[in-house]
Amino acid sequence: MTDGTLLNSLNPAQKKAVLATDGPILILAGAGSGKTRVLTYKVAYLILEKEIPAGNILMVTFTNKAAGEMKDRITSLLKKSDDRHVSDLPFAGTFHSLCARILRRHGRAIGITPDFLIYDSQDTKDAIKEVLENLGLDQKRFHPPAVTSNISQAKNELISAIEYQQIARGYFQENIVKVYIEYQKLLRESNALDFDDLLFFTVELFRKDKETAGYYQNLFKYVLVDEYQDTNHAQYELTRLLSKRWRNICVVGDASQSIYAWRGADFRNILRFKEDFPDCKVFHLEQNYRSTQTILSAAYSIVSRNNSHPILKLWTEKSGGELITSFQARNEQEEALFVIGKITESKYKNSHLHFSDFAVLYRTNAQSRVLEEALLHTGLPYILVGGVRFYERKEIKDVLSYLRLLINPKDSISYRRIEKLGKKKMARFMDFAGNFRSEIKKNNLSSLEVMDKALQESSYLDLYDKNNEEDLYRLENIKELRSVASQFPNLNNFLENVALVEQEYLPDRPANDNKKDAITLMTLHAAKGLEFRNIFMVGMEEGLFPHARSIMEPMELEEERRLCYVGITRAMDKLYLTYTSRRLYFGQRSTNPVSRFLLDIPQDLVQQSTEQVI
Ligand code: ATP
Ligand code: MG
Repeated sequence: MTDGTLLNSLNPAQKKAVLATDGPILILAGAGSGKTRVLTYKVAYLILEKEIPAGNILMVTFTNKAAGEMKDRITSLLKKSDDRHVSDLPFAGTFHSLCARILRRHGRAIGITPDFLIYDSQDTKDAIKEVLENLGLDQKRFHPPAVTSNISQAKNELISAIEYQQIARGYFQENIVKVYIEYQKLLRESNALDFDDLLFFTVELFRKDKETAGYYQNLFKYVLVDEYQDTNHAQYELTRLLSKRWRNICVVGDASQSIYAWRGADFRNILRFKEDFPDCKVFHLEQNYRSTQTILSAAYSIVSRNNSHPILKLWTEKSGGELITSFQARNEQEEALFVIGKITESKYKNSHLHFSDFAVLYRTNAQSRVLEEALLHTGLPYILVGGVRFYERKEIKDVLSYLRLLINPKDSISYRRIEKLGKKKMARFMDFAGNFRSEIKKNNLSSLEVMDKALQESSYLDLYDKNNEEDLYRLENIKELRSVASQFPNLNNFLENVALVEQEYLPDRPANDNKKDAITLMTLHAAKGLEFRNIFMVGMEEGLFPHARSIMEPMELEEERRLCYVGITRAMDKLYLTYTSRRLYFGQRSTNPVSRFLLDIPQDLVQQSTEQVI
């Protein structure tokens, strides 16, 4: 028991939401209103005041980072209140980690052995290719990435291969079914599960093995789910099954922050909760504790243009606040220098600020390269969250390996890397390289010309599918590498520069150390749930953000607006929005107009910076 002060740092609405522990509970509230805080306090309250054993509580969140933060928060609350409980923590993790744990313990009932491997997305793709080959299906017609995402979607919708067989129509789908069946066989033979299987088979386990279902339904007396607006059908079903016995299910979310539709998430799940549990208690939290009024008003002005979901109102005691700074750079290098200049200046003016008070958010992973290079040159510490650093990305390493082989056919690392992509392809490429090498010299070909020819001859880009989100990012990264190539007259200069930049990623550099005080670089998607004193949103340009693909699609444009809302509401004190008049992106100089999102913000909240950076 505590001295009763546990809930003192909550406002009345939050307190009510924490004290309502039993039965179905829905907390709908906007960004920064304390949703995650309420969940965290509720867990502490259940353990400390209601004396519920920690093992009976399940808390599910979206990312490992969020789960880690949640555990820290609970540990410190418990420490403050009562030392004895500290070692006894509830399960707090992602859906995938929860399912992996359940299947390792109880999967035997449906034929899954405890030592199964988990295939990552690359392993999955390789396995699908193998199946396509075994079935003799033409990979041009049955593009491996498209087949993979088709099967993944089916699993997210909890459609098994057999069920798919019954609903499949037409030549394409009928063959997808064959692949699906063979792929599952292959996984089974390799004793492996892919990411989607983790969720799929946990649901299947609960449906088929009543005893195991009963065990978990009995164990988890309290189920709490953060970011419920981003659950897909399998996750939704899993939550429903887990909370079936005690019905103590508490979900929190905000439809305005649903940003994972492309992974099968459906924000309507949160709207549906009231229908699933007509007796649920609904709570709203309206005070935002994170941001200034200026930041909130800006975020609201954008997301309130959406029609397909409720927009929750927020207020804050931090009235006014610094104006938002917008900056039009001449190009992406100047944009990066502006960011660095502002960070240095703010730290100089406010000695209490740390590098970790700054985050730079961007729409696509490819945008991190210019920022990374500028930071490496100035020596400021940074961490790149949720992404492999540009020159360490698989597709970048692959393409560079082709180029290195053009210069040096004996480069064994590049050779082995390319060989892995297929021996026949490799042989063909080496034949081509033999002749092409002299042509490069004779015609004095530029690095970009060489790179394009190498991509064409290796048919490397065929590995990726434009309709698959993850592949699209890889293609964007390759295009970004074309941008780099276009800056060097010949291949030798280009590869030399890449090697030099790569060298700066030494293991002892702060960039590799998560614990050091460092600037955070990440995509807008990765920033969900987090907060920073100062936020820079870079690349605020039409075609980049909103992304070109979404501009003609009203529903996708709504998702981009939500993403912008998520980005802006990460800022506590100060927001910078930057864009460039000309951007070298995807190997081309483009002049995109400023993002409509910036124009949606009332102009009296924004101050245009006119500094000369270079
Ligand atoms: P998001 O929608 O972005 O996930 P959220 O609703 O989960 O946001 P939290 O992250 O829980 O919000 O809280 C936002 C910030 O406000 C945190 O720094 C939190 O500690 C602080 N906060 C929330 N409630 C209070 C309160 N009653 N008193 C002081 N600080 C608070
Ligand atoms: Mg949160």
